[in-house]
Amino acid sequence: MNLDEYRSAARVWLAANADRTDDAREFMARLYDAGYSGITWPKRWGGQGLTQAEERAFAAEARDYALPTYIFSIGLGMCGPTLLDRGTDAQRERFLRPLLRGEEVWCQLFSEPGAGSDVASLQTRAVRDGDGWVVNGQKVWTSVAQHADWGLLLTRTDVDVPKHKGLTMFVVDMHHPGVTVRPLKDMTGRSHFNEIFFDDVTIPDKHRVGEVNDGWGVAVTTLLHERLSISAGVGMGGGADWLARLREAVDTGDPLVRDQLVELHIRSRALSLFNQRLSQETRAGLFPGARGSAAKLLLAELTLYTADLATSLVGPESVVDEELSHAISLAPAMALGGGTNEIMRNIIGERVLNLPPEPRVDKTVPFKDLKVGTQQ
Ligand SMILES: Cc1cc2nc3c(=O)[nH]c(=O)nc-3n(C[C@H](O)[C@H](O)[C@H](O)COP(=O)(O)OP(=O)(O)OC[C@H]3O[C@@H](n4cnc5c(N)ncnc54)[C@H](O)[C@@H]3O)c2cc1C
Repeated sequence: MNLDEYRSAARVWLAANADRTDDAREFMARLYDAGYSGITWPKRWGGQGLTQAEERAFAAEARDYALPTYIFSIGLGMCGPTLLDRGTDAQRERFLRPLLRGEEVWCQLFSEPGAGSDVASLQTRAVRDGDGWVVNGQKVWTSVAQHADWGLLLTRTDVDVPKHKGLTMFVVDMHHPGVTVRPLKDMTGRSHFNEIFFDDVTIPDKHRVGEVNDGWGVAVTTLLHERLSISAGVGMGGGADWLARLREAVDTGDPLVRDQLVELHIRSRALSLFNQRLSQETRAGLFPGARGSAAKLLLAELTLYTADLATSLVGPESVVDEELSHAISLAPAMALGGGTNEIMRNIIGERVLNLPPEPRVDKTVPFKDLKVGTQQ
């Protein structure tokens, strides 16, 4: 099937299926059965083994629909790709197909009350216990954890070495009796994220991802996928096509309004082309590195610009329109989640522009000797 045929088939399938249900798991199962889940993932692990071109074609057709795939965005955009890159074959065999079929939801457990931008200062401890591990600690801002079956969990396993060197990554069962999930209400009025408590949670060693104390290396892989998937909107569902919505809502005969909409179009298009290039490079084995942070920063700025524009163009009605007011009040989160704009600028400054790095006095000091975060 050539690309045009693929795109036409996707259009027909979406027209028949996209609005049939709000049930996310049931929709993902249908998406999988139709061959539109894991489009670029290897066939061996349940994917379609196709290229970015097919993925983009499907995404372009899906943009006009509000697909109920939000709860799978962390699994599809971050946890699954991390297991593809860094997991064992047994982990890929066990976890990837149920994720693609919508049978299991994933969350990503990195941030803590004392460790957000400086996530390497986290304190959730994993201690060896026979053939497994016992975990105690707290995470926060964990998106979709209230729906999750599994979590990708970053823990501290060694306090006698510098902070980046004593971390280990695990897959944790979110249904373990020692896991408590408390949804947090954000300023949209909904609960996008949660705080999580771990009390003597046991994890078998076969659920360790990467080597003991190499969790930072695995986390960098996850964060890179996070930035790329956020900026590309992977798995976040369509429906948020602001330009189309604004075109309907405002007087496009006004030259000033037209100018602002053209600005929005140009910025969206430039970001989309930048993302396209990054994903092509990634598939070709070129590591996009810090340029993934540039894409994430551009998206955050574009989202804030769009929210401001929508507020000023639509006026007070933007508060009454439930979907629009939700999107506007969620916009600032884009400048925080997945790394703040300031942190993205630090990364770009140091790794793209080669500016002098921030002074870091804590890189060689054992973690237990640091006064970081909430550590006493
Ligand atoms: C909607 C949303 C979803 C999220 N989902 C998840 C998730 O699923 N899993 C997860 O683990 N985390 C998640 N997070 C957490 C997110 O990664 C953190 O909020 C983010 O990394 C910032 O950490 P913090 O909130 O602790 O802020 P802090 O790190 O305390 O930062 C506070 C302020 O200081 C600035 N700052 C900090 N350090 C520097 C520096 N070195 N230079 C300049 N400025 C600096 C920051 O930019 C910010 O403005 C989510 C957050 C949001 C908003």
